[in-house]
Amino acid sequence: MARNMSPKKTEMPAQPADVRSRNFEEVALGYTHEMALAEAARCLQCKHKPCVSGCPVGIDIPGFIGKIAEDDMESAYRILIQDNALPAVCGRVCPQESQCEGVCVRGIKGESVGIGRLERYAADWFATHACDLPPKPVPNGLRVAVVGAGPSGLAAAGELARMGYEVTIYEALHVAGGVLVYGIPEFRLPRAIVLNEVKALEELGVKVETNVVIGRTLTVDELFDMGHEAVYIGSGAGLPNFMNIPGESLKGVYSANEYLTRINLMNAFLKDATTPVMAGKRVAVVGGGNVAMDAARCARRMGAQEVYIVYRRGMQELPARHEEVEHAVEEGIIFKTLTNPVRILGDDKGWVTGIECVEMDLGEPDASGRRRPVVKEGSEFTLAMDTVIIAIGTSPNPLLRNTTPGLDTNKWGCFITNGPDGLTSREGVYAGGDAVTGSATVILAMGAGKQAARAIDQYIQEKHANE
Ligand SMILES: Cc1cc2nc3c(=O)[nH]c(=O)nc-3n(C[C@H](O)[C@H](O)[C@H](O)COP(=O)(O)OP(=O)(O)OC[C@H]3O[C@@H](n4cnc5c(N)ncnc54)[C@H](O)[C@@H]3O)c2cc1C
Repeated sequence: MARNMSPKKTEMPAQPADVRSRNFEEVALGYTHEMALAEAARCLQCKHKPCVSGCPVGIDIPGFIGKIAEDDMESAYRILIQDNALPAVCGRVCPQESQCEGVCVRGIKGESVGIGRLERYAADWFATHACDLPPKPVPNGLRVAVVGAGPSGLAAAGELARMGYEVTIYEALHVAGGVLVYGIPEFRLPRAIVLNEVKALEELGVKVETNVVIGRTLTVDELFDMGHEAVYIGSGAGLPNFMNIPGESLKGVYSANEYLTRINLMNAFLKDATTPVMAGKRVAVVGGGNVAMDAARCARRMGAQEVYIVYRRGMQELPARHEEVEHAVEEGIIFKTLTNPVRILGDDKGWVTGIECVEMDLGEPDASGRRRPVVKEGSEFTLAMDTVIIAIGTSPNPLLRNTTPGLDTNKWGCFITNGPDGLTSREGVYAGGDAVTGSATVILAMGAGKQAARAIDQYIQEKHANE
């Protein structure tokens, strides 16, 4: 196909905002075959491949896009999975604008190539066509345990399984996927897409044992006693932070994690669901990140008439992806920026009735480089609400730290490692993803899992060579 020199990305069809804000079906509908071919033809196949260095797992991006341009979708998928165990997931939720697409040469004089959209297309194509499975790796007879079936644990497990290890993932919840299934809503990442990618890993030989809480059902030490040569901890950062303001224990106040888990993992979004969740009419979501956008957009779909994002900095400082903010605005979410809640108000039966807020100004930049919010004196005001969702960040759960002797953590409760290898303060125990960095991104968690898998392989091989 001739090179497509259009400065614009091929548009991806999406549900109109007024329709999608009333359902949980996927917002972005994906490319058609023709659209994928047209977009792939925009790639210049640069020799120096800046996009590959922009990708935390180093996918051969020109390679897979070149195959799409040749209309060889199966080869495109096979190139993708050499470096990324979850391409259908990453094609949907990666912040490509600040990674591969952010450094794409086509972005200098126009819009970058739609790398994420093409990754999604190739992965979805493979899932819907009958193709041969990749050959099963030759087993090396050595066992590794992985704690947590989020993207980090899944990536580590996939990489180790490909090297021939017998890998078992121990997952606390009843479903694998981590945040991909309990946090990110169905309308951004359908659960079936995640489970399909988990199935591909199981076909490779990875075992997933759900409903096993390491630190309670079994300890890390017991995993070693069971014959595992090494343990990879990818337990995420699932413990919600609160504001510590009066009224946070009123009925109708949720952490974003609980609210999203009830809706996504526990299916409260389905009509015949048995999981209760407050379907408030006036909902305030406190925070400005992707999690806050997801909670606000879920509240809208659950029937709320007015949904507010309450954020202490301005629109420019919102940490959420630009695309998520744009979608939220289109869906009628109201942004109450430069506003900070100081108290949650309730009635005499203990139910939320509103939030008391103060207005903020932006002062000098703080350590993060963002301008520090400063309270405007005498600016108190009240907003009537019946549901308040707190989305101001999460930390790692202390369970593993408290039950594993010799495992050092920092002041935020994140595991301390030796750097990219992910080796913790305990021999044979590696960690990565949000459990080490605090809340970050899917692809960074996967990159950490992949790098640690290589370090685990080296550690085990050296250990056996010295025996
Ligand atoms: C609502 C929401 C939206 C997000 N949106 C995006 C986005 O659009 N793009 C993006 O790149 N990132 C996004 N993120 C961040 C991203 O999802 C995380 O950075 C990523 O999931 C971290 O992966 P992980 O494997 O380290 O941890 P997790 O995904 O948290 O997985 C950890 C797993 O370990 C299990 N576990 C924990 N403790 C134990 C234990 N003791 N024993 C056994 N199992 C245990 C947990 O149940 C969980 O399944 C979002 C996060 C949230 C919450």
